[in-house]
Amino acid sequence: MAVSRFISSLVARVIAGCLVVTLFAASVLVAKRHKGQHEINLADALGKEQLIDMAIIGSGPAGLGAAVYGLRGNCRTVIIQGGMPGGLLTQTTYVENWPGEDSILGPDIIQKMNNQVKKFGAEFIADTVASIDASSWPYKITLDDGAVLHAMTIIMATGSKPKKLGIPGEDEYWGLGVTACATCDAPFFVDKDVCVIGGGDSAAEEAMQLVSHVRSVTVLVRKDRMRAAARMQERLKANPKIKIQYNVEVHEVLGDGSKVTGVRLYDNQRDVAHTMPIDGVFLAIGHDPNSALLNGIADIDDAGYIVMQGRTQRTSCPGIFAAGDVEDDRYKQATKAAGNGAAAAIDAIRFLNELGYTPGSSSVSVAKPSLDDSNDGDESLLSEITSQKDLNLELKRSKTPILIDFYTEECASCKHMMPAVASLMQRFSEKVRIFKVNAAEAQDLVKAYDIRRVPTFMLIAANQRPVTSDKITSKKELVAFIEDYLAH
Ligand code: NDP
Repeated sequence: MAVSRFISSLVARVIAGCLVVTLFAASVLVAKRHKGQHEINLADALGKEQLIDMAIIGSGPAGLGAAVYGLRGNCRTVIIQGGMPGGLLTQTTYVENWPGEDSILGPDIIQKMNNQVKKFGAEFIADTVASIDASSWPYKITLDDGAVLHAMTIIMATGSKPKKLGIPGEDEYWGLGVTACATCDAPFFVDKDVCVIGGGDSAAEEAMQLVSHVRSVTVLVRKDRMRAAARMQERLKANPKIKIQYNVEVHEVLGDGSKVTGVRLYDNQRDVAHTMPIDGVFLAIGHDPNSALLNGIADIDDAGYIVMQGRTQRTSCPGIFAAGDVEDDRYKQATKAAGNGAAAAIDAIRFLNELGYTPGSSSVSVAKPSLDDSNDGDESLLSEITSQKDLNLELKRSKTPILIDFYTEECASCKHMMPAVASLMQRFSEKVRIFKVNAAEAQDLVKAYDIRRVPTFMLIAANQRPVTSDKITSKKELVAFIEDYLAH
């Protein structure tokens, strides 16, 4: 009896012990998976639909720099352009620190890089990434328009977005006089008085971009000096339409309910506050990294920068790399971003090689379907309306409502949206006629419909009140805007 009790208690202990060990092993496995230690097996990639060797998210210097090396390494390289194709460089004017160029316009750098990677066979997608699913490999990338891609490696080159002040009135008047993009919005402040907030290179750039449109620019600097490059500061000081005020902080944006009328300033030297009447407020106080897509997937520091592993461009998630302003909290230079992009692509190719995969080799056959880039409409088919008279004529002869895409040549988001707008001509051919208007030129339309930024979309029908939106950044949102209008 005692022996059998002893044996059953021993069996119970062994079973309990095994359970503990199993649970411990399972918890280690779960913990490992949570840390992004995915099981990566080349066999899982074979035969996957829309399989890409290297998916680059972002099309600024970091993304395009990565693409050069991805393509040269025989990778099928897809660049998902994002909401601002070409990135922040497309919004700058003269760049005098790009190697090999004395002075070159930011958009020209991007144009040259685009031409180069197109020549090597890069595939561009004019869309934005909605989410990344890194729970299994190859990683699943879902685009805003719902399309899904599978990527063996991902390079995050998503850059950064302008910081906001977080003061009263800033959000209320965003787009109604408060903005962070001089190249996009300068044409809406012709002969107006505007201020630029900040003392860095961006503030100096914004002031120089604005000055040819506006009556006056006041640069508001919170310290007793600017940190912009000395040469940029000299340009500002030499321009009679630009004034610099030091030691001032902006504490509130004031308005009349529909537009900005002034700012509340605090002089931190004399400890006095006063109101400055102003028509436009341009923010240039630095940038925050666009790292949210990797939340919960890879390590991100307290300031939002993606954390790199040692002296590499690897993130903490195997197969995902990063380059440029989204990971660089120190240098933030276009030339460094392009170099980091190159390094990220080299790291990505090494990762693929370590898996036993040689991009472009015939030994491993990877499905290579063409991407259905449904945003790709023919822009040349979009007719231009140049004046109110033109529009009245079209309204008179049109049996359907008219959609107008207000754009400017300099606006990167407009360039991003234009192919999507064109692609809708066929889809809504019976229901809506679509036109574009250059807001920098058609000032009568800009004034008549109170257009304050681009891109702005307006739906209008004869004898009906127009409906406008300046918040549309994707084809999906534009379709919803049109369908909503047609339903009412
Ligand atoms: P920076 O971080 O260089 O400058 C930000 C400016 O905003 C600083 O003057 C800062 O003041 C000020 N600021 C920050 N927060 C506030 C606030 N709450 N209120 C008022 N002022 C504030 O950012 P930039 O965007 O100007 O530049 C980023 C990087 O890009 C830099 O390395 C720059 O050199 C580079 N760049 C290069 C260009 C070119 O070469 N053509 C063009 C544009 C940018 P404070 O000085 O007191 O901290």
